[in-house]
Amino acid sequence: MAYQTLDTLRFDNRFIHELPADPETENYCRQVMRACYSLVKPAKVSEPQLIAYSKEVAEILNLTGKECESSDFAQVFSGNRILKGMSPYATCYGGHQFGHWAGQLGDGRAINLGEVINQQGERWALQLKGAGQTPYSRRADGLAVLRSSIREFLCSEAMFHLGVPTTRALSLTLTGEQVIRDMFYDGNPKLELGAVVCRVAPSFTRFGNFQIFSARGEIDVLQQLVDYTILTDFSHLGKPSPEIYLKWFHEVCQRTAELIVHWMRVGFVHGVMNTDNMSILGLTIDYGPYGWLDDYSPAWTPNTTDSEGRRYCFGNQSQVAHWNLAQLARAIYPLIQQAEPLQSILDSYTEEYESGWRKMMSRKLGLNAFDSSDEALVTELLAILEFVETDMTIFFRQLALIDAEVESPFSMDGTMPMEPVMDAYYQPAQLTYDNVNRINNWICSYIERVRCDGTSNKTRRIRMNSVNPNYVLRNYMAQLAIDKAEHGDSSMVSELLELLRYPYDERSENQKYAVKRPEWARNRPGCSMLSCSS
Ligand code: AMP
Ligand code: MG
Repeated sequence: MAYQTLDTLRFDNRFIHELPADPETENYCRQVMRACYSLVKPAKVSEPQLIAYSKEVAEILNLTGKECESSDFAQVFSGNRILKGMSPYATCYGGHQFGHWAGQLGDGRAINLGEVINQQGERWALQLKGAGQTPYSRRADGLAVLRSSIREFLCSEAMFHLGVPTTRALSLTLTGEQVIRDMFYDGNPKLELGAVVCRVAPSFTRFGNFQIFSARGEIDVLQQLVDYTILTDFSHLGKPSPEIYLKWFHEVCQRTAELIVHWMRVGFVHGVMNTDNMSILGLTIDYGPYGWLDDYSPAWTPNTTDSEGRRYCFGNQSQVAHWNLAQLARAIYPLIQQAEPLQSILDSYTEEYESGWRKMMSRKLGLNAFDSSDEALVTELLAILEFVETDMTIFFRQLALIDAEVESPFSMDGTMPMEPVMDAYYQPAQLTYDNVNRINNWICSYIERVRCDGTSNKTRRIRMNSVNPNYVLRNYMAQLAIDKAEHGDSSMVSELLELLRYPYDERSENQKYAVKRPEWARNRPGCSMLSCSS
């Protein structure tokens, strides 16, 4: 395969060539009508400095490591230099935020550079996050700080390696600028380091991109965007027509269901599942106050803004996705004019999610398939995970170590069946006699169930360890990397990027990252509490 230099990247920028533009090219905040995007240039920054880049994403774009380490690269991906063929723009979208229609939102601090066609003929849109104000910035500065940029950069790549659909991150660059942020909106603003992440995805289109036109009654523009999306990102569906719109909506529902099943598998909480943060391709998009479950707790949300209502907590994610899909259905209804087929597709989301979730749970348990009798086994499992603080990641990894080939799980020396999962408990002393009995009983039922399948320990362990990660980007790990980087040492960003390339492996040198969250991180801001301020 031929490598490219920055100057030979091939852009075709179909989005702006085929969709209606905002005729105004001055960069000031406004309502943008009847347009999918506004042309806008990234702000110039004083001292771009590359912190990290993803070699896998560079490879997608056919760029060598040497090219990524060049000073030109930092100039381009901090927004200082626009390459030949790039045509920067911000898109117009709306959205429901926390259940309420918020009107026009748009790329307020994201600037698309254009779409590259790589050597394999794939289309990849490049987008800078934190590159300055756009017509959609409302009252904000369009910038991003280092802390949230590190979180987005690392988590995008971690999700990819976990096998979770996601937007990608090419690079993380310091801008040399300072940005003011009140991290917890509590009257304590602070100067922070400015940074830019270059995100990469086949498309960044969100549910909200369709909603805005429907809400404004701009149905012809809505149709243009839907047709464009089908022809560009869903071309396998065929030529756009009302029938194809339904097929398309069905596929969006399926992809969304698959996405949420993945989040539930790895213990990821998005934190802000507003309709403007829902990708039409079913990708994880907009890494803000997201978090990873340490202890299994369906009501947990990392987002302090949502701590009252817990609308976006771990256990609600599937229902919220369904609600968001219903908003998308409403938005595209004018193109279809029939409620019944849209409703029945929407209903199928629930079935698809549930069957996907069951399949995923059976894989997490190393079973051949999900039998109807497994309903009780899984329900009891979810109950025992909530008795006392139980680390979800460690529990499933350790469960693979249970010996299902023994005659009797209760050994003569008094070792309990649950012994291998003891590592997952934060406060084992809090387990009551009844809790311990129920956990031991569950492990015995589990062993019996595995024996029914006739799977060997070895096969089961390989299966389980390929879907139950050993390393995830625990909130405290990202925070430690941030603390160091804010003091000029970005080595831990690189270390975590490397660690998370192989999340299912076990490497002795990385053992320190396969353990429970340390006690100091329990209530520390950034580790257990995050906000949208970024
Ligand atoms: P988010 O909560 O990050 O998904 O953002 C919601 C909306 O606010 C989007 O339209 C963002 O582009 C916009 N936004 C968030 N932060 C900023 C910022 N610092 N400057 C301008 N717009 C922003
Ligand atoms: Mg967003």
